[in-house]
Amino acid sequence: MKNKVKQILTQVTDPEIPVLSLDDLGVIRNIEVNDNEIIVTITPTYSGCPAMEVMEQDIIDVLKKEGRRVGLPTKVTVITQLSPAWTTDWITEKGKKALFEYGIMPPSKKGEIICPQCKSKNVELLSQFGSTACKALYKCKECLEPFDYFKCH
Ligand SMILES: [Zn+2]
Repeated sequence: MKNKVKQILTQVTDPEIPVLSLDDLGVIRNIEVNDNEIIVTITPTYSGCPAMEVMEQDIIDVLKKEGRRVGLPTKVTVITQLSPAWTTDWITEKGKKALFEYGIMPPSKKGEIICPQCKSKNVELLSQFGSTACKALYKCKECLEPFDYFKCH
């Protein structure tokens, strides 16, 4: 049953990054299924990240819709767990790869930032805040394209 839920949840992606599933983002912490209820525990990426409310609703919607077909309970509860806090370490390798291919530099522990367009290391920071607070805005000095860096934390 849990696996069915997990399978369905791979369809739910980050509202801001459609190539990244919540599973690859490391947001889904626990799944419980009993006779009449599915309980999904999530940890928000950034507290106050407006995307989290959208994600929560997406989880409920997809599980209600797809779950019915495979005999899962139609009652879905999403629990938000704030501790331990989410860290960029929870993004899977598959998720990091998807980010890079999408044009966002994934979190880098070594702080090595590479342009996702031309893979140059000759980049400069334009702003600590990119399209969202979770990202910084960089510009590549080789291909001159701006890009987001998903900040480590
Ligand atoms: Zn470049």
